[in-house]
Amino acid sequence: MPGYELFGASERKHVNDVMETGIIMRFGFDGPRKGVWKAKELEKAISDKLGAKYTHVVSSGTAAVVSALAALEIGYGDEVIMPTFTFVASFEAVIAVGAVPVLVDVDETLTLDPDAVRKAITPKTKCIMPVHMCGSMADMDALMQICKEHKLFLLEDACQSTGATYKGKYLGTIGDVGTFSFDFVKTVTCGEGGAILTNNEDIYRKADGFSDHGHDHKGVDRGADLHPFIGYNFRISELHAAVGLAQFLRLDEFLGIMRRNHTILKEALSEVPEISFRRITDPAGDSCTHVSWFLPTEALTRAAVAMMKEDNVLAGSIYWYEHNWHYIRKWDHLKKASSLNALHPELKAAVIAQANKDFSASDAVISRSISTAVSYLWTEEQARERGEKMAAAIRKALAASVTLKV
Ligand SMILES: *Cc1c(COP(=O)(O)O)cnc(C)c1O
Repeated sequence: MPGYELFGASERKHVNDVMETGIIMRFGFDGPRKGVWKAKELEKAISDKLGAKYTHVVSSGTAAVVSALAALEIGYGDEVIMPTFTFVASFEAVIAVGAVPVLVDVDETLTLDPDAVRKAITPKTKCIMPVHMCGSMADMDALMQICKEHKLFLLEDACQSTGATYKGKYLGTIGDVGTFSFDFVKTVTCGEGGAILTNNEDIYRKADGFSDHGHDHKGVDRGADLHPFIGYNFRISELHAAVGLAQFLRLDEFLGIMRRNHTILKEALSEVPEISFRRITDPAGDSCTHVSWFLPTEALTRAAVAMMKEDNVLAGSIYWYEHNWHYIRKWDHLKKASSLNALHPELKAAVIAQANKDFSASDAVISRSISTAVSYLWTEEQARERGEKMAAAIRKALAASVTLKV
């Protein structure tokens, strides 16, 4: 990953198909588009490949999460359980529909800790939203069990894990609804785009309408569509969908390269005995976008980061604890509920209360956690070299820390 590393002839071909007709909008213009429907084709390709009954593609992963929440009719008075480690879009989407993001600790899966989820459930809880971070999955059996017991929706944010599976099923197709992102740095990219996947026709219809001004899409004349509810414009363009289609059709090729390079990189890092790896609840299903690893303490992790920087092998590795976008520690705007538009006072107070809870259990994991992105472009030799150089830097850092203590 990311998918743009492998743009080529098929991406150009599908874009040219659209430019030949000039119809770059995904709905309507049935005559002039001469049978070219890239967004619809992409939806069918996703549904067929991943085994979802319905797929609806939209303008971004964020739009997909917002539309999925709206389709579950989540809003005022509802709570959505989500992890402390995710992309900011997760809480943005929950707040956008007027619901409260209930932040819950992560464990060494780097996703929701099921015990912490149980403790966070209240009569207002409507949905659990695990985020399948860095190419790999949440503890789905445990979360599904909780949802069943408490009659909650399960929304899988699989924006970072297109193509990963859990016990043979593709992530995003297991819960009531799932979402993907095709933004520029994701496994499959179309510049900006996203998808909502579900096996439930009602959820599909609502997400489809919501993301296109509430259109019911029942007739052949777009102008005559009815609007049973208020929606917005989260439509994808045909140009974006064309790139997405080309990329998605190459998913198995992409996954194959990542798995190969991931294995090589992980093997090299395994040579350092102090390194442990993220717990992956179904290793066969890992989409292998990253190797996520831990050192025993925050101090050692920081020392390793500093040494990798010095040795010029830090690029592609992210120390999440210092990262602005992905972990609660740096989400100051959320902690203050800073928004341009006034939030309902109840929502604002709830957001502030949630974001300022004690997350020491998450800190204990994230302060020791580094994810190294796996490139599609590495040869086997380059993957090995990268791993060996990283391992050498980490060993050096560990040795220096031991010396310091003596
Ligand atoms: C990328 C991402 C999103 C949002 O996707 P965009 O297409 O960038 O809007 C949502 N959730 C997670 C976990 C992501 O990584």
